[in-house]
Amino acid sequence: MRLQVLGTAAGGGVPQWNCACPGCAGARAHPAWRRRHASLAIQLPGRVAVVNATPDIAAQVEDCPWLPPDRDHAPLVVLTDAELDHTLGLLRLREAASLDVAATLPVRQALRPFEEILRPYAPIRWHPMDTVAEPIPVSAKRPRYAATATANAEEADGAWVSALRFTDGRSTVVYAPAMGVWTPELHTAFRDADCVIIDGTFWDDEEPRRTGISSQTATGMGHLPIEETMERLAALPGRCLYTHLNNTNPLVDPDALHHKVLAELGVEVAADGMVIEL
Ligand SMILES: [Zn+2]
Repeated sequence: MRLQVLGTAAGGGVPQWNCACPGCAGARAHPAWRRRHASLAIQLPGRVAVVNATPDIAAQVEDCPWLPPDRDHAPLVVLTDAELDHTLGLLRLREAASLDVAATLPVRQALRPFEEILRPYAPIRWHPMDTVAEPIPVSAKRPRYAATATANAEEADGAWVSALRFTDGRSTVVYAPAMGVWTPELHTAFRDADCVIIDGTFWDDEEPRRTGISSQTATGMGHLPIEETMERLAALPGRCLYTHLNNTNPLVDPDALHHKVLAELGVEVAADGMVIEL
């Protein structure tokens, strides 16, 4: 299986357009610090899947050699959740003849407004998640815009936020750009995977409060901090990488000592454009 990392930043990207924090200022001064919104292209039998449709998706497709310009065929989009930084790109793809999207039922229901807007341009053809990937529930956190979604979505089969396990029969990757828990089910999937790419939004639990971006901890925001996952990641047999870095994360500075801490554990930080062969 071949993967291409299309982006590695959390919502807003690095730099975020309205932010002058040290990470964003650094990215304006040093192009090498820049990171697009987290996304992953995966070569599956017969087609390429793109995990999450970020606000950067058009540029990300342009930069992925496996996705040549084709008016009739858009990439298959697979969604881990319904957060805006993972779904706004669906609207950006409106020039397509139609869109193929796989999502869990609560995510699909939350995206009804997008579906309505897109219908006259590029109708969405929904695919059951299990025809593309195995979703593993990692959080019940809803997007703010769907805070009052119907009880129907609660009862629906599937999670608001999922880790996704992809396999081509020979190798397996588990992608979890947002994970608020490390469950036994997730651990089993990680242990059996050739490659694990997970939530590196925040370095430590207090980071969102300390930097003033939220009144909640990282865990409270649905993101286990790196400090709490790096040793567990290091103990896994497969190749392990962090993605979805927030602009407050010290790792956005390539010279930060935090990179050395991870390197000593044998854990990697994903980079935009990185190709992974499994
Ligand atoms: Zn910033």
